[in-house]
Amino acid sequence: MASASRAVRCCIVGGGPAGMMLGLLLARAGVSVLVLEKHADFLRDFRGDTIHPSTLELMHELGILEELLRLPHQQVSRLAAQFGDFPLTIADFTHLPTRCKFIAMMPQWDFLDFLVRRAKIFPTFQLEMQAEATELIEDGGRVTGVRAGTPAGPLEVRADLVVAADGRSSVLRERAGLSVEDLGAPMDVFWFRLSRRPPDPAVTMGRFDIGRIFVLINRGEHWQCGYVIPKGSAEEVRRRGLEAFRAEVAHLAPWAADRASEIRNWEDVKLLTVKVDRVRQWYRPGLLCIGDAAHAMSPVGGVGINLAIQDAVATANLLWEPLRAGRPTIAQLRRVQARRQWPTRVTQRLQVLVQRRVITRALQGGQARMTPPLAIRLLARHPWLQRLPARLVGVGVRPEHVRSPAI
Ligand SMILES: Cc1cc2nc3c(=O)[nH]c(=O)nc-3n(C[C@H](O)[C@H](O)[C@H](O)COP(=O)(O)OP(=O)(O)OC[C@H]3O[C@@H](n4cnc5c(N)ncnc54)[C@H](O)[C@@H]3O)c2cc1C
Repeated sequence: MASASRAVRCCIVGGGPAGMMLGLLLARAGVSVLVLEKHADFLRDFRGDTIHPSTLELMHELGILEELLRLPHQQVSRLAAQFGDFPLTIADFTHLPTRCKFIAMMPQWDFLDFLVRRAKIFPTFQLEMQAEATELIEDGGRVTGVRAGTPAGPLEVRADLVVAADGRSSVLRERAGLSVEDLGAPMDVFWFRLSRRPPDPAVTMGRFDIGRIFVLINRGEHWQCGYVIPKGSAEEVRRRGLEAFRAEVAHLAPWAADRASEIRNWEDVKLLTVKVDRVRQWYRPGLLCIGDAAHAMSPVGGVGINLAIQDAVATANLLWEPLRAGRPTIAQLRRVQARRQWPTRVTQRLQVLVQRRVITRALQGGQARMTPPLAIRLLARHPWLQRLPARLVGVGVRPEHVRSPAI
């Protein structure tokens, strides 16, 4: 079958938070942009539903915050944890210097649909769903486009810049031969839902017990639950059987014990294989990686979406003008990495620290009683310290602001 072909200034592969945000910003700045997304819709498994205060700030800068907040969501102002019998607040967002002093919990597909609706206002925006990029097109060592499969047949897209926003298993970064540094993670996570009932606690929390970590995110009608297991032990947990798994859930959230039977089979329990990695070089001539394709984040702090969005904003700020003129140079692509590499490294370093000091310790067990580490005990003793984790999680390191124009 002959390939259909398209030509745009920028072809973004992947319609996740990074790709859709960049698509919106570039189209808004008058750059012709095509986003290729391999799925037919955004209605997929849970991939994190957090919209952080700094992302909400960006929505305000774009003049679309109120419209976004009209969509159904929950507002989380504090994050809590329980170490053994010791409950405490970890992060208090109410003092942040941002317009919204909370994390908005919204299904990711609603947020992505919202970004698409806003992007479609601009005539320079195109989105091709069910278009799976498979190959890079290269010319003399420079990436000049991508080949994709679509239900209507093969598609060839020529572009001055291809952006790999295709997530942590990025095909494009692999095809481009960009080398990846693996920082390692001690855990994987089983995700599932339990219904939420009026007498349940309201707060989003993490429960740390000897050998176990259980995360409960308040989603209004239901709890999004994360059962953290030592890396590679999913098969062992499954082998122990569903009844043992339900009993474990009932033990960790006794007030929800009557709902453990809502986990009907292992299909209801999705495994997230945790990865923490980053590409050493984010670009090649004609190609740039952003979001999880450049750096898969640990779930610690739930900051992956925020970093992906921040990457998109920095990319648009730095490249909208070169893209309007033609091909961004290598020096211009390097500037994107230089801008975003530092926040990525700092955030990953903190995540790896928490993985080692808190998560590995809790999962290994071996103690008679689960006690919080000193840094966590200090948060309980001096509540004003809770503003620090709130800042790191809610705003992050080097927050970006929209500098690209609306043309
Ligand atoms: C179970 C789970 C829970 C998580 N919880 C949180 C959380 O609470 N908070 C948080 O901030 N982060 C969370 N994360 C991480 C978060 O989902 C990612 O960090 C974030 O989505 C990264 O955005 P992205 O746009 O870079 O990549 P992704 O969101 O992965 O988007 C990549 C997109 O590219 C598409 N794609 C892939 N390959 C191709 C291809 N070849 N051609 C075309 N399209 C392609 C995919 O379909 C996808 O839509 C979680 C992740 C998982 C898996």
